[in-house]
Amino acid sequence: MKKDLKIGIMGGTFNPIHHGHLVAAGEALHQFHLDKVIFIPSGDPPHKDFHEEKIAEHRYLMTVIATSSNKNFFVSRIEIDRKGKSYTIDTIKELKKIYGQSSNLYFITGADAILEILSWKKTQEIIQLCSFIAATRPGYDISRIQELKERLFKKTKNNIEKIFVMEVPALAISSTDIRKRVKGKKPIDYLVPEGVSNYILKHGLYK
Ligand code: ATP
Ligand code: MG
Repeated sequence: MKKDLKIGIMGGTFNPIHHGHLVAAGEALHQFHLDKVIFIPSGDPPHKDFHEEKIAEHRYLMTVIATSSNKNFFVSRIEIDRKGKSYTIDTIKELKKIYGQSSNLYFITGADAILEILSWKKTQEIIQLCSFIAATRPGYDISRIQELKERLFKKTKNNIEKIFVMEVPALAISSTDIRKRVKGKKPIDYLVPEGVSNYILKHGLYK
């Protein structure tokens, strides 16, 4: 019998993708014995500032460049190609359709993002369809995740563990900081894969 796939989903703006993202995805692949990790860059918000460049295509391509050397990493355009704002629940439902209802989906986030995602109103519906892996991230307190777990599982009938905390080697890297560094003409080597820093230079991003 074919075994059900275990799929990691790494959502983010990836503006730009950096080694913090890659370490979290790689560690989840290893610790949770996932078959693959799919990176899903978010779509551009519809109400972008008039002067701001539409950057979704750049974010998508940098994600492809950064993940291309890992045979278990893939990139999906589902949120980029969807019109308007993407909701996590719609993305999860679409992935379930693609990989089969019995596939096991693991949403990989940092310790900051899980609190945001699970504060939304569809939380109970989301938690029925997938598990969460929250990677430790410098500057973010994981004790709040424990509180969140207790709050969520008080309500759910089937008390299955759906949120896992994953220790990853701490990388105090953020896309916000990388964008600031580029603007301030500081180096970003070793914070992002070489192909990504070359891409940023070539296209004059974040200046
Ligand atoms: P920004 O500063 O623009 O918010 P970011 O570095 O937080 O960018 P995102 O695209 O917002 O990157 O993050 C995508 C996912 O990766 C989120 O779940 C986030 O928590 C996680 N993540 C980002 N950086 C790290 C890191 N250094 N360590 C662990 N997880 C991370
Ligand atoms: Mg972020």
